[in-house]
Amino acid sequence: MEPLQSLRGMVDLLPERLGLWQRVEATAREHFRRAAIAEIRTPLLEATELFARGIGEGTDVVGKEMYTFFDRGERSCTLRPEGTASVVRAAIQQRLLAQGPQRLWYGGPMFRYERPQAGRQRQFHQIGVELLGAADPLSDGEAIAIAWDLLADLGVAGLELELNSLGTLDDRVRYRAELVAWLEAHRQQLDPDSQQRITSNPLRVLDSKHPDTQALLAGAPDLQDALCPESHERFRLVRRALEDLGIPFRLNPRLVRGLDYYGHTAFEISSSQLGAQATVCGGGRYDGLVEQLGGPATPAVGWALGMERLVLLLSEAGGDPAAVVPDLYVISRGEAAERQALTLARRVRRAGLIAERDGSGAAFGKQFKRADRSGARWAAVIGESEAAEGVAVLKDLRGEASDDGRRLPFEGLLAVLAQG
Ligand code: ATP
Ligand code: MG
Repeated sequence: MEPLQSLRGMVDLLPERLGLWQRVEATAREHFRRAAIAEIRTPLLEATELFARGIGEGTDVVGKEMYTFFDRGERSCTLRPEGTASVVRAAIQQRLLAQGPQRLWYGGPMFRYERPQAGRQRQFHQIGVELLGAADPLSDGEAIAIAWDLLADLGVAGLELELNSLGTLDDRVRYRAELVAWLEAHRQQLDPDSQQRITSNPLRVLDSKHPDTQALLAGAPDLQDALCPESHERFRLVRRALEDLGIPFRLNPRLVRGLDYYGHTAFEISSSQLGAQATVCGGGRYDGLVEQLGGPATPAVGWALGMERLVLLLSEAGGDPAAVVPDLYVISRGEAAERQALTLARRVRRAGLIAERDGSGAAFGKQFKRADRSGARWAAVIGESEAAEGVAVLKDLRGEASDDGRRLPFEGLLAVLAQG
């Protein structure tokens, strides 16, 4: 029979790589704990309307990338393409905002129907932070610092922070009109994707990856010129916060984010070590979203980082931690011996040590080879005669112990293991 394959863009995470994932997750948890940010877990499946309303109909994510289907009750459901809309929905539904500002983080799989390539999958993973009720410009600096310090602590090399201000909704409405007029005048010189976006999402044209379009845009109206004085002042305070914190940044007036809900601060952190998909972390301020999803007017700032791209960076730097090495490898052969081996492995584990039991029933020689490969310091060997006596032969796989090959009752064996 033909073996089945996973769906395109859906990737298996194998044990040899997961050590690195767990290190990233553990470091992130510790950083969030220190920043008094609590975890929230929301469903992977949400009503389609949440994303349509939250992210915006004209975005790539909602327009082309969502996994949407009807469930058996004929409700339109969508596998979450990002985390912010769900976190905000949960905060509103569970009345968390009535208890004051919420400092939340989440992690887990997201789904987008994209063209898979290195660092771009259809199921991918994000870790994100949302500071709900955080109004002041210093909060933007704080959110960015949490992402920056996490990435730096993980050892990501070549970090670059790009920063922009998208101003207020009024600023963007004004700018949008100017930009659309300019884009219309240059329509013929734009790539086909950008031509389409003139009507669907003109600001996103600024973010086009097309080199000719990028060159052309050097002459486009500048969003910064459309910002009102209050937006400028706010942006100045965010930049000053970053300067106070010693976090270097580069202003990028064409940085817009793929989701509609951003205003004022928008930022991306990338690494010079990554190829085409260089952005590891993106975020910004989204003061209008909570209200847009039916909650009380609540300012907010947040970000999300892409686990696959981060892990790619760290693994290229040789960051894979070693696999788990058992303290004891248990070898046995014959029915009574195998039953004793199971008991012994359990006792070792209950003592807080790592035991791997070879359940293959293969010849002793084969089991010994696997014991060596496991990297374990000790092997316990139980054959018919040991089983009858209730003992095991303790072998030092590194050949360091002087009295190698002792027959020991389990009690005594545990005592030796406990000495390390
Ligand atoms: P891009 O421009 O690369 O498509 P984006 O703006 O769509 O990114 P966000 O929605 O801001 O991405 O998500 C934040 C981060 O999640 C990205 O910076 C990236 O690291 C990661 N990410 C987004 N989409 C994918 C994907 N399809 N596969 C892997 N990682 C992704
Ligand atoms: Mg994208």
